[in-house]
Parts: sequence; C-alpha cells; structure tokens
Amino acid sequence: MAQYLLIFANTVGAMAVCTFLYGLAQRGIRMTALRRAAVGLVLGCGGIVVMAQPIILSPGFQADARGAFVGMAAAFGGPIAAGMAVILTVAARVVIGGNGVVAGALVIAVTAAGALLWRYQVGNSRKRTWAEWLSISLVCIAPSAITLLAVAGSMWMTSIFLSVVIALIVFVFGKMLETEQRRGQRERELKREASTDSLTALPNRRALEAYARELEREKATDVLFLLIDIDHFKKINDEYGHDAGDAVLREIGSAIRSTVRDSDFAARVGGEEFAVIVRTGSAEAGRLVAERFRKALRVPFGAGRQAHASIGGFFFEQEPFNFHQGYQRADQALYASKATGRDRVTFHQERKDELRLAS
Ligand code: GH3
Ligand code: MG
Ligand code: MG
Repeated sequence: MAQYLLIFANTVGAMAVCTFLYGLAQRGIRMTALRRAAVGLVLGCGGIVVMAQPIILSPGFQADARGAFVGMAAAFGGPIAAGMAVILTVAARVVIGGNGVVAGALVIAVTAAGALLWRYQVGNSRKRTWAEWLSISLVCIAPSAITLLAVAGSMWMTSIFLSVVIALIVFVFGKMLETEQRRGQRERELKREASTDSLTALPNRRALEAYARELEREKATDVLFLLIDIDHFKKINDEYGHDAGDAVLREIGSAIRSTVRDSDFAARVGGEEFAVIVRTGSAEAGRLVAERFRKALRVPFGAGRQAHASIGGFFFEQEPFNFHQGYQRADQALYASKATGRDRVTFHQERKDELRLAS
C-alpha cells in the first residue's frame, strides 16, 4: 500500500513539474518545431522519472505510468514531441534492462502512435470534449494494461491501480496542459499582433524600433536606412475611394515583403510610409537595393495606372547605426526626392552635408 502511494505521489509530482515546464515552453519558445521538441524533452524526462519508481512485476518486468507521459507528448506536441519522448523513454527502458525491454519499448511506441492518431482525429487548437478526454485516456491506458495482463497474468489489482493513475493523469494534467497550451497560443498571438500592422501584415513601427534598438546595442555598422513614401497617394484615395487606397497599400505591403531579404527588416511606419533597414557592404550596393524597392512598388491600380514611390536613404558607412539619426537624414533625403520630381531614390550625403541625387 505504502509503495503504491509513493508511486502515485511520484507520478503526480513528475506531471506537475512537466505542466509547469510545458507552460514555460508554450509562452517562451516562438519557433514551433523547437517548442514541440522542448515539449517532447520535458514529457520524455517525466516518463523517465516515473519509470525510475515502478511496480516490479517480476525480475526484469515493471509497470509504471509512462504511457500517460508519452501519450501527452504525442497528443500535445505532435510527431516531433512524440519522437523525442519515445527516444528518451525507450532509451531509459533499455538502460533499465531485463526481459521486459521489448514489451516495455513496444508499449511506449504503440501508445505514442495511438495518441498521434487521436491528435489528428481531434485537432489541436480547439477545446477538447469529455468524450475526447475519455478516448485519449483509453489510448494511454490500453497498451500498458493489456501488456500488464498478458505478461503478469492475474495481477488485476495492479492493472486497475495503474489504469486509474494514468486516467487521472490524463484527465487532470491533460486539462492543465490544455489550459497552458491555449494561454501560450493567446500570448504568442497577442505578441504578434502588437508588432504587426493589420492592413499590410508588415511589422509596425513598434517592431521596427525594437529591431533598431537591437542594431544600436550591437553597434552595427554598414547599415542602410530607407524611408519610402508613396507618391500622390491622396489622389488615389480621392479618385478611387478609401477602400481602393487600402487595397493598393496591401499590394505595396506584399511587394515590400517579397523584396526584403531575410537579413533586412521592413515596416510600415505611417499611413503610406514604410521604412527598410538593410545590411549592406557599400553605399553602391545600397543604391541598388533602394532601386529594387522603387521598382517593386510600381503596383497597378485603377484603369492601367501604376502607383510609385519616393525613397530617401542614409548609409552608415563604417559608423554605428543610430535610429534617430538615420530617420532624420533619410527623411531629408526623401524630401529631396519629392522636391525634385518624385519616383526616385535620394541618399543623404553626410560627409559633404549636402544632398545628392542617385544617378
Ligand atoms: P506625396 O507624393 O507628397 O507623398 O503626396 P501624398 O498624397 O502621398 O501625401 P499626403 O501625406 O498628402 O497624403 C497621404 C495620404 O495617405 C493621406 C491619407 O488619407 C492617406 N492614408 C494614410 N493612411 C491610409 C490608409 O491606411 N488607407 C488609405 N486608404 N489611405 C491612407
Ligand atoms: Mg506621407
Ligand atoms: Mg505620400
């Protein structure tokens, strides 16, 4: 009896720690694959902890609640987490050794496969129903219980105890994992929304400022700062209506998204104004990038017309990037582009403290 209580306490404790760490991973890790690997790592380790304090059936054969951990990894973390948890727990089972290794490993694999099937049946984003919780409990219990009865014959009490423990784990902690999962999803969503412009889906000014702060911290040099302003945008609104204007902005947003490289950063900083931070080796290369943007933004609208934009740039040649300075100088250069006919790129020439048009 005391032994069963200890096993129960150990299992509940392991699952509680797993739930806490699962919550941390859900909120803290943005990259999906990495997050799922972390979930597999956490629940796999939980499985190892419960396997370290098992019910010994006969020498080399042991029973424990590993099915709940492997099943939860598959149900909540998909194939990546399932794979991770399976590798960890099977490795631990092999290390423990004995005649039950093959049966023990098989239980783990079958449980993971069953829980993965359940995940695809039930889906991963909505709240699960009671019937679905019951079915995942059975998925987690069945391989362990069947093997237990087949291997140990008439150990009914042990089978029932183990089944109840696994069911309890799945019901109580499964629901807690679900709460953590939904909270994590919501938090990631909010974080993304807070840094994204809703019309163009580009990063917004807040995100640009955060990115710029990062560059300032690392004292990045050879950074080009571009400001882009759509020419005569008010006319588009006036002639075709605000909705048409919005549609043009969306098109321009997607043109910017497909022009910006992974190493660079583009954001919508105002109504029809955009900023791009470009890592480039020279002012000449930077001019080519700016021209690439200018040409990419010629998006069609109305009856055969094309939007176009003016661009101002400042290149921090071998000097550390500074957001405020870059913005001011690029803005002056942009003003020069507007004043000299629009639809062009101008770079601020800091050294001579004068503006020069791009050739
Ligand atoms: P310029 O060539 O000098 O830049 O002229 P412009 O008309 O583009 O510049 P101005 O700053 O006078 O007008 C910008 C216009 O952009 C005015 C504003 O109504 C419009 N605008 C700003 N944000 C949005 C938006 O989200 N949707 C739409 N449809 N229009 C917007
Ligand atoms: Mg403007
Ligand atoms: Mg404009």
